[in-house]
Amino acid sequence: MTNEHYTNVERALLQYAMSLGVVSEEKLILFHAKSKELIKQKDDQDEQEAIAQERSLDHAIDLINQKLYPLDYKIAKVLNQEKGDSYYVYCNTSEDKPSTAATQFTTAEIDVIKKLIDFIITEGGINESYVIGSSNAIKKVSSSITSYTASQSQQFLDKLVNSGWFNLSQNGKYSLSLKTLTELKSTLIEKYSKREEGGLIDICLGCKDIVTVGVRCPNQTCHIRLHEACENNYSRARRDQGRVCPCGNDWSENDLLPVGESVLRGL
Ligand SMILES: [Zn+2]
Ligand SMILES: [Zn+2]
Repeated sequence: MTNEHYTNVERALLQYAMSLGVVSEEKLILFHAKSKELIKQKDDQDEQEAIAQERSLDHAIDLINQKLYPLDYKIAKVLNQEKGDSYYVYCNTSEDKPSTAATQFTTAEIDVIKKLIDFIITEGGINESYVIGSSNAIKKVSSSITSYTASQSQQFLDKLVNSGWFNLSQNGKYSLSLKTLTELKSTLIEKYSKREEGGLIDICLGCKDIVTVGVRCPNQTCHIRLHEACENNYSRARRDQGRVCPCGNDWSENDLLPVGESVLRGL
């Protein structure tokens, strides 16, 4: 690894990932190919740039992450919980988040972000819906920042969605975004503990990332949770043994239960 050089291809990839924050694997593969093609067309392409032509996207990301490591940033590859496709998230890896977003928000606003996250995990974690309704969210904002009017509170929530902290569903429920889950993964696990240890954070049996949208074993005392795509992989890999949970519950006889907003619709 040490004698591999960072080139304009990796530089362009990093710029692109930074500017988007969250980018699909499909889009980043295309961008990487295009960047390599541009360098190839240069007359004065050097030896290192020729080597960069042969790199896969993940290999290039590894090189970028080595550069980012001392700066407490990285580009993480994560699964989109709903659709099961992969995304790259440019994220801060330092401790004490979301305080690191201080440049974008005031201290009072960061406190509200923490309160919203806290509600989503503690209240939303009880039934495993992991959401907060919009009227409740507005109340949380205006009771914390008393100088905000209702419409200012709404604007602030809009800003949180636009800047990628929260997702807003069609039914007006706020949930933790891919970016937030990726950046705060270790912070959330540390603060709220994993469900298997008596806490509120669901960890996927397949990919080991946090599950806030997915499925759960119908056995009430079992802690097994999975993203839907990870459950498909798990069950496909164990086709011969049947769709059986590590706890012994047979999922072909007892339907898996939802995790996420659909809990509220009784699906
Ligand atoms: Zn998973
Ligand atoms: Zn189970």
